[in-house]
Amino acid sequence: MRMRKKKNLDKRLDACKSIIIENPETQKGLWDKNFAKGRKICLEIGCGKGTFAVTSAQRNPENFYIALEVVPDVLVLAAEKAIAQNTENLVFICFDAAKLFEIFEKNEIDEIYLNFSDPWPKARHAKRRLTYISFLNIYKEILKNGGKIFFKTDNRPLFDFSLEQFGEANIPLSDVTNDLHNSPWEEGNIHTEYEDNFSAKGFCINRLVGTIEK
Ligand code: SAH
Repeated sequence: MRMRKKKNLDKRLDACKSIIIENPETQKGLWDKNFAKGRKICLEIGCGKGTFAVTSAQRNPENFYIALEVVPDVLVLAAEKAIAQNTENLVFICFDAAKLFEIFEKNEIDEIYLNFSDPWPKARHAKRRLTYISFLNIYKEILKNGGKIFFKTDNRPLFDFSLEQFGEANIPLSDVTNDLHNSPWEEGNIHTEYEDNFSAKGFCINRLVGTIEK
């Protein structure tokens, strides 16, 4: 069973190879030259099934999008969606965000999007949260001066923890809300799969924006 599943996945991933970057390490420092070509580079970390990345790319042809996802079975769904929609300014990478330095040079990225990142609720797993200070310090390095981090989550404890971590990392915040869908920023807000699920269950969506000052 397991073998058949893997074989099928490989076939599907192969069908998306035009937009899945195989050896992203070889592109370090070259994302603008080889892909973005003067456009803003926007990175989504943990893109899941890809609705946010695909919709963002379609709405903003002036930007170039890179969507990172560590689970190949999920990444393939996102990539298939992008191919079906014919996006030309979006690529995918199957990669762990803990190793971002291996694929991005300092000051290479304009915007980072963290949507509904895994909360890792146990205190002993705090370091795995994608808004833990060690991750924020990596984002700071790969983002340009004036670059932005957009974070949204239904999880209030994770959000409150993240507010502290941004503070510790000296990243100034703006556009902070505990109820994004009833805020002025809802206009233009692109919903993710998790966002619609949690909001349908009655959870409020928290959102913040951090701006990098170098
Ligand atoms: N952004 C999507 C999915 C949220 S679930 C949405 O809002 O609908 C969080 C996603 O992040 C999962 O798909 C998970 O596999 C991915 N993820 C978690 N840790 C990651 C890491 N270290 N690097 C890349 N992706 C990661």
